[in-house]
Amino acid sequence: MVHTFPMQQICANAWCKQIFEITDEDLAFYDKVSPVFGDKKEQIPPPTLCPQCRSQRRMAFRNERNLYSRKCGLSQEGMVSIYSLDKPFPVYGSDAWYGDGWDPLSFGREIQWDQPFFVQYQALQRVVPRLGLIGVLNENCSFANHLWHSRNVYLSFDMGFCEDVLYSYATYHSQNLIDCAFSRNCELSSNLLDCTKCYQSSHLQDCEGCQDVHFSFDCHQCNNIAFCWNLRGKKNHVFNKPVSAEEFQAVLQDIRSGSFVMLQKHLQAYTGDVLQKAIRKAHHNLHCEDCRGDYLLHSRRIRYCFDCETSDDLAYCNRMDEKIVSSMDLDNASAAELAYEGTSIAGHRISFCNASYDISNSNLLYCDTLIACTDCFGCIGLKRKQHCILNKQYTKEEYEALVPKIIEHMQQTKEWGEFFPVEFSPLAYNETVAQEYFPLTKEEVLQRGWKWRDQKDEISKVEKVIPAAKLPDSIEDIPDDILNWAIECEATKRPFRIVKQELDFYRKMRLPIPHFHPDERHRRRMALRNPRRLWKRPCGKCGKEMETTYGRERTETVYCEACYLKEVY
Ligand SMILES: [Zn+2]
Ligand SMILES: [Zn+2]
Repeated sequence: MVHTFPMQQICANAWCKQIFEITDEDLAFYDKVSPVFGDKKEQIPPPTLCPQCRSQRRMAFRNERNLYSRKCGLSQEGMVSIYSLDKPFPVYGSDAWYGDGWDPLSFGREIQWDQPFFVQYQALQRVVPRLGLIGVLNENCSFANHLWHSRNVYLSFDMGFCEDVLYSYATYHSQNLIDCAFSRNCELSSNLLDCTKCYQSSHLQDCEGCQDVHFSFDCHQCNNIAFCWNLRGKKNHVFNKPVSAEEFQAVLQDIRSGSFVMLQKHLQAYTGDVLQKAIRKAHHNLHCEDCRGDYLLHSRRIRYCFDCETSDDLAYCNRMDEKIVSSMDLDNASAAELAYEGTSIAGHRISFCNASYDISNSNLLYCDTLIACTDCFGCIGLKRKQHCILNKQYTKEEYEALVPKIIEHMQQTKEWGEFFPVEFSPLAYNETVAQEYFPLTKEEVLQRGWKWRDQKDEISKVEKVIPAAKLPDSIEDIPDDILNWAIECEATKRPFRIVKQELDFYRKMRLPIPHFHPDERHRRRMALRNPRRLWKRPCGKCGKEMETTYGRERTETVYCEACYLKEVY
């Protein structure tokens, strides 16, 4: 068959119908990852959904930050979990889940030829115990999920190698931070976004190597500056103008007043002035070769990816931790090769899988939460197993004969080549990352046949609930008693608490008590980043057409890389 590439396809989702392209590179990849049993290759067909709908479908299987208190189904110990009490399956704490006190194969079942595969998979999903939280090698961390190698971390998600970090996201190798995201090697700071090697600073975005820098955007190797943009190697600057050391100290004293009213004034100057005046580069990619996308680091030959590092030959991937090679359609992967359509995965030749973070996984299809497994199909919660289907053990010969028959069955039911549909997620749509990147109303979610959960905050016993606006303005006037109160968020009315570690930090750094719920703070922070979409627009300087994550309607000054480098360096 001869195609003229790229192939045009209409997204099969009735509410989308977007036209998308399937390139010859895409087709070569589907062929390359198609599994082989005996000497027959089971061809993975091109996708029927557009890249955005594919990403949304995968994200609907990942809950990062909606946590619930419950009991471990095995040990009965109290625990925190990403699964609310109303989920049908048992939920185990890490020790119980990884231990030998239960046998996932005891839930095994025969494949039925008169039912779609996904329906049988869902029946299995309803009974197999699930892991309550994801993360290992942490010490004294609570309300943290997708966390690795960390200590004293609280209400933070998708991070590693952190110590004394609170209310943060996607941050690594850092200490003493509050309210940070996508930052690394930072210390003693708050409200950093996409920052590297920053110290004793606050409210920074896209900054690097800064010390005592506040309310600034895209400044590198600076110290003692505030309300600045696009500066390199400067000190004692305010609003991009040089000031004396004494003048800077006076500004710093204001910033460190500990007053919420002052903070609002400073934030207004930052968003209304600094962020408007800054020159933006079309993308945030660094040390990349032949890459299309944004927030890419040390990567090569990447198409339409966002937030990826040290990865090669990828397309349609988001949040690739490191060393992802020759893969497509992944969200949140690390150390993976020849992986396709997956979320929260690692390993070799992993397609259509969820929550299987183990680099020794290989040859997995349609699996969920598998550890050190190879050659498994449609399994949930297995450890160190091979040749299993729907949690039932087979011999190698049986496995290799049966899987092609299941694939043939799935071709007839139009399931083969598709990731699990959103309605088969064990989570409600609004509990998942999908709601962050593809927000929908309850009505829209229910209309699509997906699940919605009416969320109610669980706040343990408090002395009183105080509206944020009624808090004393200055950190100096906040009594220790606040640890026994709940604060009602000024924007969402959701109650939230202050913890001791946090209060100590605010007092030490002379910062006011936040008036917004941690989720609202996260939402506002993420809104400052560029969306995971690419547009064509002319460079604000030379007029040359460029590809950028700044939408055409946005009013910031956006330059192509060449013009930006000429202007800023
Ligand atoms: Zn679509
Ligand atoms: Zn230009």
